[in-house]
Amino acid sequence: MKKYQPSNEAPLNGILLLIAIGTVGGLLLGGIMYAISKLVYLILIFPLLFGIAGGYLASFAITKGKIRHPLLAFTMAALIGILIFATYNFAEFNFFKQGLYEVLKADPELSHVCQTLNPDQAANIFLTKVTGSPGFWGFMKYQAKIGITITKVSRPSSRGIELNETFTWIYFLVELLIFAGVSGAMAFSAASEPFCERCDNWYGKKKYVDSTDHNKSEQLLWALNRGDYTNAGKLLDLVPHDYPRVDMAVQQCPSCQEADLYVELSLVSKNRKGQIESKKLATGLISPSDFQTILESRVRPTETTDNYEESADTEIKEIRYEEE
Ligand SMILES: [Zn+2]
Repeated sequence: MKKYQPSNEAPLNGILLLIAIGTVGGLLLGGIMYAISKLVYLILIFPLLFGIAGGYLASFAITKGKIRHPLLAFTMAALIGILIFATYNFAEFNFFKQGLYEVLKADPELSHVCQTLNPDQAANIFLTKVTGSPGFWGFMKYQAKIGITITKVSRPSSRGIELNETFTWIYFLVELLIFAGVSGAMAFSAASEPFCERCDNWYGKKKYVDSTDHNKSEQLLWALNRGDYTNAGKLLDLVPHDYPRVDMAVQQCPSCQEADLYVELSLVSKNRKGQIESKKLATGLISPSDFQTILESRVRPTETTDNYEESADTEIKEIRYEEE
């Protein structure tokens, strides 16, 4: 089994699509987040959720645009994450400017200022005085300076935790990294999906092939990595194994028979709540003829039924499988 290496191809159409969807999506998501934040803002959770949303949009564009360049995909999707963060804060900045202007207007001693200055100019004078910088950057510095207070949603009136200037900057950075990291990681994974370069299309859906006992996972991996497909096949049971088990699934080029198959091994188990959990163990490429060897080497249930016990065991497993 050899490792699948993305070709690092990125068609221009795909890049343009990713830029278009990323820009519109990033602005839109930042705006939605800002609108919701006027009611409630869940720290770390919002960056995570909106980072995932950005990652989804990026992955969609990557798949549609056939981008097989994981690093490029990561970088561009991370920028989408940063755009969401920037849009959100920019909307906050506008809200602040309007608010400041209202305060000035209402103040009898300062209201005359409003006759000569517009909200932008007034904000710039204020921000430069307080932080040394005008504009958006001055606003970010101002936010850090006044710090943020984290309160529990269940007890909004409680005192909460106040972050000082340094911690507010760290907090901004953590949020920014979540936006960029989550979105980037999802895009990286989308661009790393198997692709048939000859037919210029992505591989089809994952199809379950076989399973084996979880204790045999090391043996199976060893055999596959050594290219010993006969023994790999012998380790697989034709009848789905009980949990915890190791599943083998494959993806194929939907247009040709010649391309290697993309094989994935995963450890599948049931957790305490009875839900099925799956953990990826390994992935790799196997040629169609080697894959045939695996299929043909599998042990049929009848071949192992030397005694009555084992046969009964197999039958039970078969019935269980049907129930599932
Ligand atoms: Zn193909």
